Amino acid sequence: MTRGLPKKIPIAGVDKVIVVASGKGGVGKSTTAVNLALGISANDPTKQVGLLDADIYGPSIPTMMNLHGEPVLNNQNLMVPLINFGIKCMSIGFLVEEKSAIVWRGPMVMSAVQKLIRQVVWGPLDYLVVDMPPGTGDTQLSLSQNIPIDGAVIVSTPQDIALLDARRGTEMFQKVNVPVLGLVQNMNVYVCPKCGHTEHIFGKDGTKKLANELNLDILGDVPLDLQIREGSDSGQPVVVASPDSLQAQVYLDIAKKVT
Ligand code: ADP
Repeated sequence: MTRGLPKKIPIAGVDKVIVVASGKGGVGKSTTAVNLALGISANDPTKQVGLLDADIYGPSIPTMMNLHGEPVLNNQNLMVPLINFGIKCMSIGFLVEEKSAIVWRGPMVMSAVQKLIRQVVWGPLDYLVVDMPPGTGDTQLSLSQNIPIDGAVIVSTPQDIALLDARRGTEMFQKVNVPVLGLVQNMNVYVCPKCGHTEHIFGKDGTKKLANELNLDILGDVPLDLQIREGSDSGQPVVVASPDSLQAQVYLDIAKKVT
């Protein structure tokens, strides 16, 4: 038996795939993925954009995109994505009770992700943004080996432990020949809205230092910001809720850099 790398099979009807990844959870990966997808669409409304929530353990796209309910099936038994703000979305959160604690085992996670990729009418799409599961386990690896990925965006806070994991994430993509487009530094600075005092709650510029070390670009520097947090958690992402804000501008710039 010959043992080579699995063959990468394109997603039907999808032109480019950009994955948003992080070494660990809670660093702002999903917030970035959502605002990136919206940013690509806002920068060029002629582009069709989709958002795949591959974070099976903690799907947050339904809440962040304010989408709930089961997808309907077309006449070929494929799931039709739910749409909000012009973005086609699919998440395991549409298929199972969002708050139910499912103990997913490795192979189940991968087969769920495969369904979300292959049994959905994604096309025609110019860009599919994939919110990856956090970490560098089997799911991330096999996803990267199964579909052609045009680029990976790695999100990290400036905190030491997050950086260590971000480095591992970067190395994983490089090993499977997925181009790393750059790092997003999230929650580097908090600016007090009352007095303008700045605070580096998770450390200062750690992600920038890592980017330098790995010879990668910093795609954006997103502050720790109440509006971003509230927008994510209330289904009104900052790029659509306050498109003229500085916060939205950061995401629009990231979107420009990766397209
Ligand atoms: P992950 O996908 O890495 O687990 P999330 O995007 O779900 O992270 O973010 C975790 C929490 O942090 C969410 O409540 C989100 O609203 C919040 N958050 C993410 N980025 C920011 C930011 N730049 N400023 C404030 N809150 C943020």
